Amino acid sequence: MNTVVPNKHPSVRNVSYKIAIIGEAPGEREVDQGEPFVGPSGFMLNDLLSKNQILRDACFIGNICQQRPPDNDLDLFVWSGPEIQSGLVQLGKDLDQFQPHMCLLLGKTALFSAKRDNKIGNWRGSLLLGEYPPFVGRKCIASYHPAAIRRQYKWKRILQFDIKKCKENATSPEYIPPQRHLIIATSFDELMFDLERIRAYKPLISVDIEGGIGTMSCVGIATSATEAFIIPLAKISGQSIFNGSDEEVQVWQLLANILEDPAIPKVLQNSLYDRFVLQYSYNIVMQGVVDDTMLKHWELYCELEKSLAFQVSIYTNESYYKSDRKSDDQNTFYRYCCNDAAVTYEINQKLEQYL
Ligand code: URA
Repeated sequence: MNTVVPNKHPSVRNVSYKIAIIGEAPGEREVDQGEPFVGPSGFMLNDLLSKNQILRDACFIGNICQQRPPDNDLDLFVWSGPEIQSGLVQLGKDLDQFQPHMCLLLGKTALFSAKRDNKIGNWRGSLLLGEYPPFVGRKCIASYHPAAIRRQYKWKRILQFDIKKCKENATSPEYIPPQRHLIIATSFDELMFDLERIRAYKPLISVDIEGGIGTMSCVGIATSATEAFIIPLAKISGQSIFNGSDEEVQVWQLLANILEDPAIPKVLQNSLYDRFVLQYSYNIVMQGVVDDTMLKHWELYCELEKSLAFQVSIYTNESYYKSDRKSDDQNTFYRYCCNDAAVTYEINQKLEQYL
């Protein structure tokens, strides 16, 4: 019996988006009807496409492997074997013909094909450029596979968010990551200048501390979604940056002035944590906290995860960067903290539009 199901090109062309939806391999219903995603996974996909005002018939729909695996278990085909490899070659030809602006990678097999990383929990919701054929240079977003969602129903809303982001980015093929000016290495004078400016002009800032009681390694401060700087306090090794010098005293005094000034509005993610550490450990009583992204997001979607990483994945075009937190490289670590402050600022602005 022929168990090959060809990829399907769109029959409707006059839409503003060009989306290729890529699954793993066809199942029984797909083989019966000779078309990808027409079984239970397809029903869920159709539902979420229409919730995002996307016409299924305007999308390319295909699979990494076009042959149905025995028992629907792709692991029974080896990656280097003919079923998957010929599937990738065919998919490459089909994508070359369609030239999608976005590839929606459903599930870990499709993600692995583009990135050689199958940690879907990390990468879902991130805009990324494919690194391996047939996705090299193609703009992609990965998400949960509908079949997995049927076992973890709470992920359905997350796939809906990812499809929304997919559509928003599907009007052109260019990949333009968010442009942020993150200052992670400044001289003492430049740092004091940046802090003085905040004390004088009192703009809305977002603040993010890194570390805990007595072990704060840096503070990230953003003055917009695109401008942020770091106040370095300790190295990853724990060694102090300023070694108790006069400069350290001046930095802390100015920082405390800013954090305790109720006229300087501040936004934080889970401010309770930062406020506790600053007060308990450093005697700084933060004032002027006007927004907390964790609480705002929670108010909107109390059923969803509350972490900053999750919010980044649904509200911004920033790619997954949380792994930088574990970096041994000092600058990567500071950039991570600085970026946290900038994305907090951006998420707060986005949430303003909802609430
Ligand atoms: N699951 C897939 O990955 N592809 C299909 O075509 C159907 C179900």
